[in-house]
Amino acid sequence: MTHPLRVGVLALQGDVREHLAMLEASGVEAVPVRRAEELGSLDGLVLPGGESTTMSKLARTFDLLEPLRQAAKDGLPMFGTCAGMIMLADRIEGGTADQETIGGLDVVVRRNAFGRQVDSFEADLDVARLGEVFHAMFIRAPWVEGVGPDVEVVATVATGPATGRIVAVRQGHLLATSFHPEVTGDARIHEVFVEIVRDAAS
Ligand code: GLN
Repeated sequence: MTHPLRVGVLALQGDVREHLAMLEASGVEAVPVRRAEELGSLDGLVLPGGESTTMSKLARTFDLLEPLRQAAKDGLPMFGTCAGMIMLADRIEGGTADQETIGGLDVVVRRNAFGRQVDSFEADLDVARLGEVFHAMFIRAPWVEGVGPDVEVVATVATGPATGRIVAVRQGHLLATSFHPEVTGDARIHEVFVEIVRDAAS
């Protein structure tokens, strides 16, 4: 490899720092990204959790929405967590009237799906790719209500009332989770993304 893999974290709003730390722990150079010109130097991009309506507005204001859409179309690997998952969805339920997304994932994502009153909770997940349980943290999380034919279901809830709900998906170079893998000190999901980035770069 001629240069270390460089992965950005969209830093308009949300939990940017935690993702930067997880990416560094997964062995890549991690940088915050705020301007369209920065996209060209990246091997991958994380869209963090936060508030998708705000993120969408800021992306529009900073002239990032179209460049992000183009980068996703051009094959830049992207990993969206929670609000970031909503940003990658082609269709959303429970969004605001003017809420725009980057899109690229052929899924329907429902915002605040576990109930608005359920602020945050933890649950064990079945993660097909890892072959073992992953303990996940959800914060006002969406879930995936429907997936297109090219979408791989990566994780479902393993216990409790939401058992079976889809909470992680992958479609080619795009990965998304409704939970926050950056806050539980377990880098395995970030490592899955770094593998996607590495494959795309080689
Ligand atoms: N409920 C938020 C939204 O709709 C997502 C929450 C999160 O990212 N933790 O954007």
